Amino acid sequence: MKNIVMLGIQGSGKGTQAELLSRTLSVPIISTGRLFRSEMEEGSELGQKIAEYVTGGELVPDELVCQAIAERVAEPDARQGFILDGFPRNARQAEELSVTLAEDGRELSDVVYIRLSESEAMNRLTGRRVCSNRKCETNFHIEFNPPQGDPEKCDRCGSPLIQRGDDRPEAIIRRFALFNSETAPLVEYYRERGLLREIDGGQSIADVAGSILEAIGD
Ligand code: AMP
Repeated sequence: MKNIVMLGIQGSGKGTQAELLSRTLSVPIISTGRLFRSEMEEGSELGQKIAEYVTGGELVPDELVCQAIAERVAEPDARQGFILDGFPRNARQAEELSVTLAEDGRELSDVVYIRLSESEAMNRLTGRRVCSNRKCETNFHIEFNPPQGDPEKCDRCGSPLIQRGDDRPEAIIRRFALFNSETAPLVEYYRERGLLREIDGGQSIADVAGSILEAIGD
């Protein structure tokens, strides 16, 4: 069973590759960012608690994130495998995740780390557009991955494309700093556990996807 974590700096192509992999393996993507944005839009209790963190590019407190993940991985569709995108983001979340899975006799199969320089990632983020439909949220890039049809509409569902609020340069810089201090140490953490599959994120979307399939042995 494939229980996968996607790791990489914002803009590395994690979300795009998670979508491709999810279709290839027929397992759900569990994206904390997506989950949080939809809670914020609904104005739920959780949404109100986290809005300040998310819009400022800060991390949401671990308790809230870990609880949301524990509930999500317990759902029936995630029992046949899953792809985590945006979680874990620090050592505490990584520990909590392994405990949550172990309680259920499960474990991670692969941690896919997409390596990309900050300057390249910054270029990609400023050109990123996402589908405004929260149920879809397909990623596009105005230059590298534009929609095939109308340049301002999503190919999959036809909704308008938007720029994410936290893709502004100030928030991006904050998110890079947090990645380097909090998330980057997870690369070594998972390497030591023999789970790390390191991928060159500078390749084309199709080549990154091919390298991932090869690395996870599928
Ligand atoms: P993303 O779409 O993964 O870039 O996430 C967007 C925002 O959601 C982040 O900047 C954080 O504010 C919040 N977030 C997402 N995942 C996590 C996480 N694992 N831990 C803490 N905050 C998170």
